[in-house]
Amino acid sequence: MTADDLPLRNSFAQLPPAFYTRLIPTPLPAPYFVAASGPAAALVGLDVRELENDDFLALFSGNRVAARSEPLAAVYSGHQFGVWAGQLGDGRAILLGDLATANGPMELQLKGSGKTPYSRMGDGRAVLRSSIREFLCSEAMAALGIPTTRALVLTGSNQPVIRETIETASVVTRMSPSFVRFGSFEHWHSRNKPDELRVLADYVIDNFYPELGTGPERYAKLLREVTQRTAQLIAQWQAVGFMHGVMNTDNMSILGLTLDYGPFGFMEAFDPDHICNHTDSHGRYSYANQPPVGHWNCYALANALLPLIGKVEDAQQALDVYQPAFTKKIDELLHAKLGLATNEEGDRELLDETFKLMQDNHADFTLFFRRLGALQVDAPEHDAPLRDLFIDRAGFDAWAVRYRERLRREHSVDTVRREHMMRTNPKYILRNYLAQVAIERAQNDDFSEVRKLLSVLEHPYDDQPENDAYAALPPDWASHLEVSCSS
Ligand code: AMP
Ligand code: MG
Ligand code: MG
Repeated sequence: MTADDLPLRNSFAQLPPAFYTRLIPTPLPAPYFVAASGPAAALVGLDVRELENDDFLALFSGNRVAARSEPLAAVYSGHQFGVWAGQLGDGRAILLGDLATANGPMELQLKGSGKTPYSRMGDGRAVLRSSIREFLCSEAMAALGIPTTRALVLTGSNQPVIRETIETASVVTRMSPSFVRFGSFEHWHSRNKPDELRVLADYVIDNFYPELGTGPERYAKLLREVTQRTAQLIAQWQAVGFMHGVMNTDNMSILGLTLDYGPFGFMEAFDPDHICNHTDSHGRYSYANQPPVGHWNCYALANALLPLIGKVEDAQQALDVYQPAFTKKIDELLHAKLGLATNEEGDRELLDETFKLMQDNHADFTLFFRRLGALQVDAPEHDAPLRDLFIDRAGFDAWAVRYRERLRREHSVDTVRREHMMRTNPKYILRNYLAQVAIERAQNDDFSEVRKLLSVLEHPYDDQPENDAYAALPPDWASHLEVSCSS
């Protein structure tokens, strides 16, 4: 297979020209292959080993255009940190087209492939550091079972790129059924272009939500469905301790996928007010704020769709599904995380106490739930690995008594519960320090750690005893790591 054999189409290019600019990627000087994702390649029917060859390397670094590709950059707008930012767009991303899969079309997009008309002051490039983070986290999230855009290939070059320091350029090939964002709709609404707004909404519904029907109520139904998916997505983020870091409306997928991995982070020492993005000084996108911000973003989408929906009450009704959808999902996920098979009055208090205990003791979020899975109802003498996560041992013991009583009331069987919990509470997450180690090695031309980390994160729920080190608490040096919007 060569790049020219790829059966690419570009359904987004069927939209009127106002939605995008056709252009070709800027070549990346002397590109090299960094890594590829086997599962992502399988999704689009590609052999991951082929992606390393020169032809695909040229394609995925933006150095050649495949025969059937119609590359373009899309326009969108958005709210950044709650403030209207006006026109944005694919400032450094170029859509190559889509490939058919068993589950419908999958678009391929190069990120970091040069300037576009939407680059504003930017250079159109992405640095190796942030590209490795996006590549690894996209695939880690998919393996965790969380809706997300995917990452197929990562390429690099020694071309210098200036950020706070001089770094080097990289291109990630991302995949998603669609990269349309809330901000794509806000764009046309803000420009008072109801016709374009309708064309975009019809495109999204016809291609990705055909079950919403063809009647005029389809737009309110779209809002309702997107609101529900967004609420459920954020519940899934909360349940693994994922923090997006930049939940601007231009980073909110119309398909309810995790989109745009920048200064994200996974919760370590539990603190609901944790801010993973160093640039977010007010904590707008802190862990605890993600659920309400998700709702706020749906309001921004509702406002943009209002000309199509018609009645404010219909939009309001669609938005009203957010809170119950979030609560239902998070409740279900947290019950599963605690290994509870039934619902009881008082569970809310038990959950609150659990999080309070974790917070007071700065307990590691991932290790806590993973080790909890090994707890034996009638053998507190074996609690040590879990108990060791807490400074306040007496506090833990008191909590464990209540937890055990709760398990006994539903006649929980250790082996059965353990089995469920090991499938629910991951052992391996993309801790910042793990990414940092892989990045520093890659910056010295050794990509083995990126590939190794990817292979570990592809099986987050498996025990992988030989990879225990990847489940360890962050080392002391990692407490100084800061992740910002710089990418
Ligand atoms: P982000 O914060 O990554 O979601 O980016 C916000 C906007 O800035 C998007 O429209 C990006 O395409 C654009 N952007 C970010 N970095 C660059 C860059 N280096 N060059 C051009 N545009 C960029
Ligand atoms: Mg973005
Ligand atoms: Mg970004």
